[in-house]
Amino acid sequence: MDNKRGKIEISNKYVAVDVGGSHIDVTLVDENFNVLPISSLDINKEYKVNDFWDFLFFAIKEINEIEKLCFALPGVVDPYRLYCIDCPNLDYWKNIDFSSLYEEGRRRGVRIRKILVSNDCNAGAVGVYKILRLQNKNIVYIAIGTGIGGGAILNNKLLIGANFSAMEPGHTKIYKKSYICGCGNWGCIETFASAKALTIYYNSKNNTNYSNLLSIIKNEPQHKVKKLFSRFSDYLSILLNNIIYFFDPDLIFLAGKIVFSSNLFEKQLIRKVIKKINLIKNFDRKRIVLLDDDLSNNTGLNIYNLVGSVFADEFL
Ligand SMILES: [Zn+2]
Repeated sequence: MDNKRGKIEISNKYVAVDVGGSHIDVTLVDENFNVLPISSLDINKEYKVNDFWDFLFFAIKEINEIEKLCFALPGVVDPYRLYCIDCPNLDYWKNIDFSSLYEEGRRRGVRIRKILVSNDCNAGAVGVYKILRLQNKNIVYIAIGTGIGGGAILNNKLLIGANFSAMEPGHTKIYKKSYICGCGNWGCIETFASAKALTIYYNSKNNTNYSNLLSIIKNEPQHKVKKLFSRFSDYLSILLNNIIYFFDPDLIFLAGKIVFSSNLFEKQLIRKVIKKINLIKNFDRKRIVLLDDDLSNNTGLNIYNLVGSVFADEFL
């Protein structure tokens, strides 16, 4: 039971499950934030909840007693009632009561002591906070992928919101009318600055047919890629400026696969952010942190979501 970040014992009973729109990872996590994958599955938007329970309990069949069973979910989550209200990218994941897993576990011979359910970006924020061992810092965490999600820890609490929808930065509007967003609105920032938006924009301007941003970066001429990321940093800097004026956090973390291309945009992004913050003198550029160190050791696991899902209860 070895992984690159250290040893992990099977006797550790924190089970963390990261559910994405197309993939699920089931892992063990220990107190030192080591993560050991135990099972994973590719899914599509028609994946049913009952199939998920079967997959999950099969993955953890060796374990008789679980200290914490923790979930990071891509949607609106009530972490107090352990309720998944809606995962927009999974057609059947609506109004799911995760507290029913206590009974389901008993029925299948697994004793579950505690269940935690988090929005994935809230879990991500907690994961960063724990792994980097931050203390008494106000942080905002932004994950850029298909969309732009976020989480915030302010005064040592996760910002949840009256409708469990605080920190949805991707759907803040920067134009009244422009591109239509998956949420049904026009002009959301994620139609300009998500990895998906960049891919769509590049294809439309260059008559290409790339399925993802990484292939564009790998295959297209450097000057065109540079131009694309210049536009990206223009828009992302608007979002970061808004976040700074809302929360003035100690640290803003940028996560997601796009950050692995940070050499294409980091310097100009920070320059553009600082240029627009007129009211905060001497803004320290180190307050914007790109999480481009690969903590997952190429396992593809989202370490922040997984670790954060286990310790989210410290911030509720
Ligand atoms: Zn939107």
